[in-house]
Amino acid sequence: MSKKGNINVQTENIFPIIKQFLYSDHEIFLRELVSNAVDATQKVKTLKSVGELKTDINKLKVEVIVDKKNETITIRDNGIGMTEKEVDKYINQIAFSGAEEFVNKYKDSDAKNSIIGHFGLGFYSSFMVSKQVEIITKSQKANSTAVKWTCDGSPNYTIQETTKKTKGTDIILHIDEDSKEFLEQNRLSEILNRYCKFLPVQVKFGTKKIFVDDPKGKKNDKGDIKQIEKVVDNIINNTNPAWTKTPQDLNDEDYSNFYRELYPTEFNDPIFNIHLNVDYPFNLTGILYFPKLKNNLEVQKNKINLYSNQVFITDNVENIVPEFLTLLHGVIDSPDIPLNVSRSYLQADGNVKKISKYITKKVGDKLASMFKNDREDFEKKWNEIKVFIEYGMLTEEKFFEKAKDFCLYKNTNEIHSTLTELVDRVKNNQTNKDGKIVILYTHNKDEQDSFINSANEKNYEVIELDGPLVSHIISKLESDNNNIQFARVDSDTIDKLIEKDDVTPSLMSEEDEKNLKEIIEKKIDDKMFNVKIEGLSTSDSPFVITQSEFMRRMKEQQKLSGGMNMFGDLPESYNLIVNSNHSISNKILNETDKKTQSKLIDQVLDLALLSQGLLKGKSLTEFISRSVSMIKVNK
Ligand code: ADP
Repeated sequence: MSKKGNINVQTENIFPIIKQFLYSDHEIFLRELVSNAVDATQKVKTLKSVGELKTDINKLKVEVIVDKKNETITIRDNGIGMTEKEVDKYINQIAFSGAEEFVNKYKDSDAKNSIIGHFGLGFYSSFMVSKQVEIITKSQKANSTAVKWTCDGSPNYTIQETTKKTKGTDIILHIDEDSKEFLEQNRLSEILNRYCKFLPVQVKFGTKKIFVDDPKGKKNDKGDIKQIEKVVDNIINNTNPAWTKTPQDLNDEDYSNFYRELYPTEFNDPIFNIHLNVDYPFNLTGILYFPKLKNNLEVQKNKINLYSNQVFITDNVENIVPEFLTLLHGVIDSPDIPLNVSRSYLQADGNVKKISKYITKKVGDKLASMFKNDREDFEKKWNEIKVFIEYGMLTEEKFFEKAKDFCLYKNTNEIHSTLTELVDRVKNNQTNKDGKIVILYTHNKDEQDSFINSANEKNYEVIELDGPLVSHIISKLESDNNNIQFARVDSDTIDKLIEKDDVTPSLMSEEDEKNLKEIIEKKIDDKMFNVKIEGLSTSDSPFVITQSEFMRRMKEQQKLSGGMNMFGDLPESYNLIVNSNHSISNKILNETDKKTQSKLIDQVLDLALLSQGLLKGKSLTEFISRSVSMIKVNK
């Protein structure tokens, strides 16, 4: 008996629309059909477990078979199957209504691209790649007859009885001319590997050859058991991925093996991981890994894979987890994340918000417990995790609140402290004239060696702050603690930064100071320098170049935000502090030979520039030859 029918769709013909719809995402047809097949086998499991199904089932399995000659792909399962009535209900009505709903919702929308490109069209997505689809299915129910459903991509279908030996379903796709790529073994392998790698039921795709011990125990010349070739099913998935297990059942090696499984080409091992597991008020499992972060933050993003019941959905978790967490790697599996909505809608979704909060909290808790339980180890890892933590502190207030207790600051003697510890240590010795505690820092220990030395000589501590986010972090910390102020070691002379009662007075008369300033300004005549005469200690350099903390931070933030701000393009400007207590300053002042005076100023200025790493190119060459000639003269 054969029956013809017309699929009850309101829209005139939705097939052409579907076909064009997710142009770049045609490949998802395979994920949809394979996960339907997996669902069908899971249903058998469920029915058996409640005793509703008595039949003996063989090992549950899904198979993808490609027939290049006949240009078909078959997705075969030994699952629940369908009766004729069920085909009518689930395929003709439900599957099609789902597809129709989808099309109606989005066909006029400009937001096509904002829809998750991985929307599940279900069974219907088979028409994106096929000119004809057949379903041959036999229900697990007793005394079922097999049925064959055929549809050519128009709303017309036929359904007829057929014969089928085994129970379950074959979906046969007759591949369309313009979708021939999917008949290639490699292309299919790639798609299966992307979407089906962790499905909970074995998925077979062809066979493969392996070597096994000879079953008769025959030995080779060396006396070892002979290896013989054997053809076995090629199973493409791991049905039991690490994130579905409980943490108690996993050791460090299991976690790092799973990382390799996820990212076979990733070179570095992750630093540590967090196992996620919630079942209320939403469902979520997963493992997040802290990768070793390289300097370019952008390229490390989008490595988290989002799954829904072990079916791969996307590796773009933007708007699902907070921005800073996208630096992590790993897997999140949640059936509670809506996938069929636009990204802007996702942000407002209640579950997504809860999930975001939960993950942020978990990451904060994990770091806090690592800090508490093994501080030494935490300090060792600090360098590799700090950018992540700083990024989180700047972008998530909740995370900031937690992280400020374990965020570390390393000083130039390699001692790590929290901000509280650091402040406690320096508060009596490092305050400025406004009574604020001054935290001295360097962005480059080697470049600023002379400044660090002069701070250390005065028993001041200098911490190392580097990386792309430093100026923002400092502003954040200052606004969070109004009794502290950060100053880079070269932002002024140490005596100015941390004013003391016993500050060295200038021994030069006011008039001499004025003259000296004039001589130097006349000689240098450069808008880049703002000349100031100050009495520093005799052990300090004759000239010191500093750059105002405020100006420098403005410039740094401007650079990071990529362009103009209210200050326009800020010019380079430096303070040139002349140490009036240094004998060379006196020599400059009292030198009567203009040539010698000029040479002396050049030399001392170049030395100051050199210690700031600012002497480059032609000036550097001139400095070197001048220095050489001075040595010659002195001989
Ligand atoms: P969804 O899977 O989201 O429910 P689909 O359009 O993919 O929607 O499928 C519609 C229905 O058809 C399924 O819910 C299921 O009842 C039935 N179905 C699809 N594929 C199979 C299969 N391989 N075996 C048994 N039933 C199936």
